[in-house]
Amino acid sequence: MRSVRDLVADWIQTHPQEIQRICDVLLVFTGTGLRGQMQQLLDFIRYNLIARIDQIANSPQFIQDNLSERLANAGLLPMFGFPTRVRLLFHKHPSLRDWPPEEGIVDRDLDLAISQFAPGAETVKDGLIHTAIGVVHYRPQGTDIAEQPGPLGPVQAIGLCRRCQAVDASSPPAANCPVCGATVQDRPGYQVVQLSQPSGFRTWFGRSRDFDGLFEWSPRASRPKTSATLRPLTNRANFGVWAGLETVYVINDNAGCCFNFVKLSREETWVTADALQQIGINPANTVDANAGIDSRALASVKETDILILGIYTWPAGVHASPLDVNGRAALYSLGFLLRRAAAVRLDIDERELKVGLRVVQDAAGQVTGQIFISDSLENGAGYSSHLGQPAEMEGLLQFILDPQDMFFPPLVAPNHLSCQTSCPDCLRDFSNLAFHNILDWRLGLDLARLALDANAPIDFTVPYWQTLAQSATQAYFAAQPGWQSTSFAGVPAGRRGPVAEIITHPLWNRSGGNLSPVLTAAVAQAQAAGVQNVKHRTLFEVLRRPY
Ligand SMILES: [Zn+2]
Ligand SMILES: [Zn+2]
Repeated sequence: MRSVRDLVADWIQTHPQEIQRICDVLLVFTGTGLRGQMQQLLDFIRYNLIARIDQIANSPQFIQDNLSERLANAGLLPMFGFPTRVRLLFHKHPSLRDWPPEEGIVDRDLDLAISQFAPGAETVKDGLIHTAIGVVHYRPQGTDIAEQPGPLGPVQAIGLCRRCQAVDASSPPAANCPVCGATVQDRPGYQVVQLSQPSGFRTWFGRSRDFDGLFEWSPRASRPKTSATLRPLTNRANFGVWAGLETVYVINDNAGCCFNFVKLSREETWVTADALQQIGINPANTVDANAGIDSRALASVKETDILILGIYTWPAGVHASPLDVNGRAALYSLGFLLRRAAAVRLDIDERELKVGLRVVQDAAGQVTGQIFISDSLENGAGYSSHLGQPAEMEGLLQFILDPQDMFFPPLVAPNHLSCQTSCPDCLRDFSNLAFHNILDWRLGLDLARLALDANAPIDFTVPYWQTLAQSATQAYFAAQPGWQSTSFAGVPAGRRGPVAEIITHPLWNRSGGNLSPVLTAAVAQAQAAGVQNVKHRTLFEVLRRPY
């Protein structure tokens, strides 16, 4: 039997016209230099290609099992398009003897690398602290590993709204936020940024320092996002759900400032001046000023299976708005509650699923927050599409709330009611570190109840809220001289002479036309009792930043 190798070799020898034609097509719109090399390229394919592939396939230098990946690592095929999303931080100059490198590197998934290897971020390994300075693309070339030009990669523009958290992935992105209308001048506002998915990261070789217990690790919490494209949700109970392929963006925009990359002189590494200064290198002596500044946000962009969940009908005066921290907290809390419940039901690790917030403008023009859950695995493991079936989602929500099953009872057990916001027993784990300060199991349960029933009460009469609302309100006013705890229309409040402060449920509308009816009643009763100045504050704020 003839091998594939021989079949390919024969085809090359017997099809010169086809090869010529492919070459012609590939060289359209390329420079005259490359077109001038046409004959050499054809000769290479005809006389050298198979020998070169043989050599790479048999070389002990490469560790990859797949031929295509081996050829890419050898530089015979382009590296992009491969299903590997691992990125390396080089803290030593790589060499051909150790290529692909096993020494002098730290590896991370791209989602994490864009934070952990961002310029200025520090990584501890074997008792040393390595400070990332910028991005680099190494490739074998001749007898060495050489830096390739343009390690920041092609420019991809995207619109980011810091007011409503929406993402505009249309090309080109809109000039103002297409969801909430925020402009570039607004603070917080909307900005079009240039994304970069770097192929590698590096340190200033030889500048790593001893780990003395102190280091600056700034994860810069990149939260997964999707575009604001409306998806046709299927309605069931009081929720809408959709499952399908979406692009998920994890972006590190350096807290809104982006990274101003500059090129090192005589190298193809792009760094930031701040990162150089951090390790005591003077940018003026090391940067190629003629190469200019390339301002980028670091990104991981991937197409994957996701499910989208939205609340269908909101009761009068109740809303989880993504424009407000109370609303975002509720949406994220439901997302992480669903993830934990799904992990229990499917018997999988929580890290198999990622949770994000999607901000869209609904058909009525309102800025709306939806939860999305995506598979962590590169090509999807099918969990999100499974959970995104309407019946499955309904079953999952019922599982969360079922007093007879295993999930709900521990949440409302006496020993957990003392958990005022969130803890490792309910919602917190290492993977959602960036959200710990806003996660709240009670808000998650509120939205789960609402998803199943548009008439679910969203107030402090719900048993798991009762004691907390009372005790937190009393402690809050007891700590302020002259204030007396009281209540108006059953809503906890405090009063000092003609001034009263009502403590509201975090999901009640507190302004605009659609005011919460319970809050309206409480305000009316306070005024009837002679209060001249009625203020209000959500219980969420009382628990987190009371004064
Ligand atoms: Zn916006
Ligand atoms: Zn807890």
